[in-house]
Amino acid sequence: MCRKFEILEKRTLAPKIKEIVLYAPEIARKVRAGQFIIVRVEEKGERIPLTVADWNRNKGTLTIVFQEIGVSTYKLGKLDIGDRLTDIAGPLGNPSKIENYGRVICIGGGVGIAAIYPIARELKKMNNYVISIIGARSRELLIYEDEMRKVSDELKITTDDGSKGRKGFVSDELRDMLAKGVKVDRVIAVGPAIMMKVCADVTRPYGIKTIASLNPIMVCGMGMCAACRVEVGGKTRFVCFEGPEFDAHEVNFTELMKRLNAYREEEKIALEKYLKKIGEVKPNAN
Ligand code: NAD
Repeated sequence: MCRKFEILEKRTLAPKIKEIVLYAPEIARKVRAGQFIIVRVEEKGERIPLTVADWNRNKGTLTIVFQEIGVSTYKLGKLDIGDRLTDIAGPLGNPSKIENYGRVICIGGGVGIAAIYPIARELKKMNNYVISIIGARSRELLIYEDEMRKVSDELKITTDDGSKGRKGFVSDELRDMLAKGVKVDRVIAVGPAIMMKVCADVTRPYGIKTIASLNPIMVCGMGMCAACRVEVGGKTRFVCFEGPEFDAHEVNFTELMKRLNAYREEEKIALEKYLKKIGEVKPNAN
């Protein structure tokens, strides 16, 4: 008998990137592509928003993928099979709008690949022609290649250093495809804010509807605290409640990136203190 919020499976996908399968039957029953959950690792712990990468409604499980970048995600990564999370809130946010658009490009950058995976899968089920472009800094950081291949009609891979696939960014592949005249009805991008901004800049001259799944700092996840506010089309919007997906051509990415960097120094200091406390060396800044 599984206990609520118990970790049933765990695997390391890449250095500092982990996947865990959790028992959370109520959420697994309702969750849809594009939605997220907020987890807490301990009673007084930070609330960690994580996009749901997969689910199994019969088994009552959710799959999440995360990168150990701050104290809380490090603590999450230290949990093992059989351990339980303190709590999980969700499913949160609006599901992706899945329709038959025609030819869709799904773009995933870094850890964002796990978040684009269920969206690509549902779009494929809706008989879209799915072209996926996934990219990472290098070969060993590329995750979910097999999963993405299964749900895509075409899969393009990029790495920043050229160690796998095309050398360059996902946006370079997108730029070349559009320049070659590939007809595209919709683009959906999930990854670092700068990647989504550049992808939006690439598609703008072609007038291709482009959706970005935003990842601001988030606290409550339910539209009350306003930590996740972003400017979209000149208006303040709450990502947790009104998003996370927005028209990428309307998003003020400069402001989003500024807000994402607001606590970088504090986060770095907190992580250094934590690693010192548990006797682990400071990780490389990659
Ligand atoms: P990263 O910095 O390793 O970049 C991943 C890829 O994004 C690169 O390989 C490249 O192809 C592209 N990219 C990076 N910089 C670019 C630029 N200047 N121009 C064009 N393309 C560029 O990414 P990471 O460290 O794995 O971080 C993943 C990011 O995804 C995090 O910021 C995380 O918050 C975000 N994320 C978002 C969601 C969501 O639902 N919105 C879900 C998971 C992760």
